[in-house]
Formats: sequence, structure tokens, C-alpha cells
Amino acid sequence: MTPIVLSTWSFGSIANNAAWSVLREQGSSLDAVEAGARAVEADPTVNSVGYASTPDRSGRLSLDASIMQSPSQCGAVAAVRRHVHVISIARMVMERTPHVMLAGEGADAFAESQGMTPVADMLGDDMRRKYEAWRTAHPEAINDPGYAYRPKANREERTPGGRAAAVHDQPDDTVGVLAIDHRGVMAGACSTSGWPYKLPGRVGDSPTIGHGLYVHPKVGAAVATGSGELVMGLCSTFHAVDLMRRGASPADAAIEVLQQMVDNYDLKPQHQLAVITLTKTGEWSTACLRPGFSVAVTTPDRNEQTDPTTVLLA
Ligand code: ASP
Repeated sequence: MTPIVLSTWSFGSIANNAAWSVLREQGSSLDAVEAGARAVEADPTVNSVGYASTPDRSGRLSLDASIMQSPSQCGAVAAVRRHVHVISIARMVMERTPHVMLAGEGADAFAESQGMTPVADMLGDDMRRKYEAWRTAHPEAINDPGYAYRPKANREERTPGGRAAAVHDQPDDTVGVLAIDHRGVMAGACSTSGWPYKLPGRVGDSPTIGHGLYVHPKVGAAVATGSGELVMGLCSTFHAVDLMRRGASPADAAIEVLQQMVDNYDLKPQHQLAVITLTKTGEWSTACLRPGFSVAVTTPDRNEQTDPTTVLLA
């Protein structure tokens, strides 16, 4: 089977480079997607995933991640505060526990029990300054649970070449990675700091199996990024894979999932949602609600950033 790796957003190229170094050496898709997500988690210039990403309203990071190979092989963590590599904790939940998801203090404690070292300063000085500036500019947000910080959609800055700008200054967007290895085994991963300045305790679509990520070895896989609350009312990645199970092409499945967003929500200009769909035979597609999303694609013949096939609300 020809290996492939697909990752969300312009920083997806960081994930693809790491994932491809695994696939190129005949490594497994599970190792590849974990390596891809870890590379983005470690990158301090990506302000929406892992280290130095955007905190919750209290100024503390709260990271979410999931990893999946099949309905019986999936793992997730939510609201992790002391560890950067949440994708690896999710994998350990999958491989070492009878559970699918651990959250909050339990997830951090589990990581430590498995030998991971907690990180004393998850935010870093730059992000701490950004948070303080946001807090000063939005004093009304601190004590109002109904306050919704609504950054505009499509924060990703892209250079003319399509690669990410040097600093990913904009605060949200999940890294989602889908891969098929040379044996034809599929895996997916996603990792995020979630909605910027969210209420402490908020968990989004990314660590929730069937929402931000779904993989079925007999059918295909899908990963979503964008406004997680939209995904969570529609089980979007499960829906996409189920549409492909019933015969839809990856393109039609991605479009239908987004059409459901249009049909079921009062969408605001800041709402963005993108989905990548992949069949078990390596056909793939991607669609988004609004312009600005891109996908990193790597195969033996191709390593580039591409625009989505369909933009619903262009
Ligand atoms: N879907 C993520 C969340 O809502 C964020 C994103 O992908 O932009 O947590």
C-alpha cells in the first residue's frame, strides 16, 4: 500500500515531516500520527497546540487530544494541565488502561505514573504576556460564564508559498493527522488547546471520539478542526465515516458533514469548520465552511500544502 499522511492547517507540514520520517522507514501509522502531533505540540510558535498555546480564562493551559485506530483501539485525554505531549498520554490510555478517556487531574496523574515528567511552565513568557494583555482588554470576561470570546475565523497566516508564517500568532486550530502505512493500516490523531480563553473545564470535540476524530479500519477516517461546539452537536467525524461506509465518496462525505452545520446552526462569521476524509484505500478529500483552511499532504510522490476541494460558504 502507498503510504500517505494528511494534516490540518499550514502547521500541518510540521506534523507531516515528523510523521513521514516514521512512514518512510516502514514504521506504523500509529507511530506516525503520534510523532506528527508531538512535533506540533513541541513547537512554541504554534499557539493552539501543546506547549505555549492559548490558555483558558484563568490563564492556565488545558490540553485535549485523541488517537484512534479502530472502535476498540482509541484513547483520549481532556483538560490536561501539566503535560505537553497529550497525544502520547492518549496513546497510553488506549494501550495501558481499560478506558478510553481520562480527564483533568486524573489524566495528569496517570501520565506521571507512566513516567512522563510534568512541565513546570506550560505557557512560557510570550504567551503569558498575551494572556495578560487579553485579560486587561476583556475584564468583562473573567466573571461572566456566558461570555464567549469570538476570535475571527481563519486565523492562520500563510506565506505566498502556502507554508505557515513564522509565528502562528492566532490562537486556535487543532492539529489533526490521518495516515495509512505501507501495510495499509490507518490511524488518526488530534491535539489542541481548544477554544482560546475558554471557561476552565471546557472540553471540545478534539478528544471526543466520533466528534473531532474517527477511524474505522474497514471504511476510512475523518478529522475535524474549527468551532468544536458545532461538531459536538452533530458527531461530525463519525457521521463522515458512516457516510463513506454507506458508499459516499470522501468528497461527498466531507461536504455533507459541513452542509449539516449550515442546516442545523445559526452560523456566525467567526465560525469555521474543516474536515479531512480518507478512505482505507487512500482516497481523500477536504472541505471547509470558509476560505482559509489548508491541508498538508505527503506521499512518496508529493509533499505540499493544498487548499480544500470545497469551500461551502465561499
Ligand atoms: N476544534 C477545536 C476545539 O473546539 C479547536 C479547533 O480545531 O480550532 O477545541
